[in-house]
Amino acid sequence: MTSQLPGRHTPLRPTWLCRIDAHPWPCGPAKLALLTEYANNRAELLNLLATMKVEAEQHLTSLDSGRQTDLTRRFLAWPPPPAAPSPR
Ligand SMILES: [Zn+2]
Repeated sequence: MTSQLPGRHTPLRPTWLCRIDAHPWPCGPAKLALLTEYANNRAELLNLLATMKVEAEQHLTSLDSGRQTDLTRRFLAWPPPPAAPSPR
């Protein structure tokens, strides 16, 4: 699996801030680029985000003296739900 991220708004490790605007990654432009890149492959987008969430949690937890960091909402709560199933 590639972990190639679209666009220039990519995270700086280990702080996971955007290298362009220094917002917590994924910032707005990063989300937009990801949604565009993975418009037809939501499963792969969520897979990528879940992988990066685990990596970011490890980094941020060790930066914060071992205090547990939960990034589930930050990484996984923003993609819109899949298209509604077609009506019966
Ligand atoms: Zn950004």
